[in-house]
Amino acid sequence: MKLIHPKHTAPKEADAMRTTGVLVCYPVDALPQADLVGALIRREGAVNIATLKVPPREAGCIDVPAGHFARILSVDGPQVGDLNIWNTHNIQECFYSGKTRALHGTHVSTGDSLWSNLPYMRPMATITCDTLDWYGYDADGGSVHDVIGTRCDPYTGRLLNGENYHHCCHSNLTRAMADHFGFSLADAEMHVHDVMNVFMLTGFTHDTHQYFMKASPVRPGDFIELEAQVDITLGLSACPGGDCGNEHSSDVASCHPLHIEIYAPTNLEGFLPAKLNQYVGNHGR
Ligand SMILES: [Zn+2]
Repeated sequence: MKLIHPKHTAPKEADAMRTTGVLVCYPVDALPQADLVGALIRREGAVNIATLKVPPREAGCIDVPAGHFARILSVDGPQVGDLNIWNTHNIQECFYSGKTRALHGTHVSTGDSLWSNLPYMRPMATITCDTLDWYGYDADGGSVHDVIGTRCDPYTGRLLNGENYHHCCHSNLTRAMADHFGFSLADAEMHVHDVMNVFMLTGFTHDTHQYFMKASPVRPGDFIELEAQVDITLGLSACPGGDCGNEHSSDVASCHPLHIEIYAPTNLEGFLPAKLNQYVGNHGR
């Protein structure tokens, strides 16, 4: 946080420096645009071939072949989910929340892509429907589906309150990933990464710019749907914070399951799997 009483005097040009116009770092106009019209056509008639039921305070993994749709669905009660994404055939390629944030903003919705890490950097999935798109941004600057937060984890919890809690999203995802890919917990843990916070309502405080959360507006029946752009594996944790209106990293909050429904299109017309990034890769040597 910035000092309330700075130790250094501002230069005389300080006001001019502060009022210089802002420039969006990464204008997205030049990016390949999501084919939402084509996705809508492909989604029509797609059939539900699998459903993953994620219990409260646990996580699960499910494979989503390229061109298939994954619907993350709220059931029973308000619940936040922490989402990881891996390339099914190469788990070194995984979701890159930081670059997704830099490109699409702090909170994502329909039409945004979920990008993979370097050197792969391509859309792993595209958001094709979001029933919470009505929320927009509230007066506190809060919104849903953030790519700001990291995931609740037992290490931060241990530092902050001195306790060992085992059902943080980091641990839930570690166990689920170990079971899905047949890894040891130690190996799996190294592949758990910063998440997309599905349904979570978050922002930054106006005064200190600290990360905040509020109770999620998600209700049973709400969903966000993704079209896989390559073969992906989703890992989803039903956060121990429940709707994250009060606290996380404990067994205090009321928690509910989440489902992931997989839909297979009968017609893949117009769908092209995302290509690997075309950067030449030699870093100037
Ligand atoms: Zn969590």
